Amino acid sequence: MQILTLKGSPDIEVQVRNLAQARRMSLRVSHLDGRVMLSVPKRAKRSDIMGFLCEKEVWVREVLHTLPDRSKVGVGCAIPIFGYEREIRFAKVQEPVLTTHELLVPECSKAVEKAVQCFLKGQAQEVLTLASDKYAQQLEVSYSNVRIRDTRSRWGSCSSRGSLMYSWRLVMAPEAIYEYVAAHEVAHLIEMNHSADFWSLVEKLRPSYPQERLWLKKHGAKLHQWDFSGA
Ligand SMILES: [Zn+2]
Repeated sequence: MQILTLKGSPDIEVQVRNLAQARRMSLRVSHLDGRVMLSVPKRAKRSDIMGFLCEKEVWVREVLHTLPDRSKVGVGCAIPIFGYEREIRFAKVQEPVLTTHELLVPECSKAVEKAVQCFLKGQAQEVLTLASDKYAQQLEVSYSNVRIRDTRSRWGSCSSRGSLMYSWRLVMAPEAIYEYVAAHEVAHLIEMNHSADFWSLVEKLRPSYPQERLWLKKHGAKLHQWDFSGA
């Protein structure tokens, strides 16, 4: 993969991927994080690629303009954790501490955003394992493990081997939301589909699931707005 830059205000970085099976060039702008991706056939010439990008530049800028601003995570900013805003603040602590209104991070932290991300991943592992255990017990099934990832296309998944995967960003959402995702994935241990039988299992575990599902549809993209890259 290579990065090309469309000069302008602001400059736009384009990730270019050569794909053997691509017949023609295709451009995509991620609605989650504004990433611009271009797939090109294996032997595409650089001049053709630049020509194509110039042609599409107006469209790309228009799409980017409609997206919510990405917010850098750092000291002084308030991010949602378990659905409540917490201000990130330096404090005399050994490791991050969550209070009602704040997330305290050690004063020596160089990469604050990484420390916060690491803390959130740990929280995600903990609460999503607890939730998975609870629902698995209710359905009398077992799973093999819980993995936490930074997924872009889905909030959770369940493999045929019984491995559950969740996005750590779910801990920024209210408790009911990640509880629903856990119930959803655990229900897949029995029904590997989205049939009526599957949804009745989900309903058994979480009668309030329709609202929670709707919340994710409406507000889920906001959880991806937070930028932990620190650059
Ligand atoms: Zn599903």
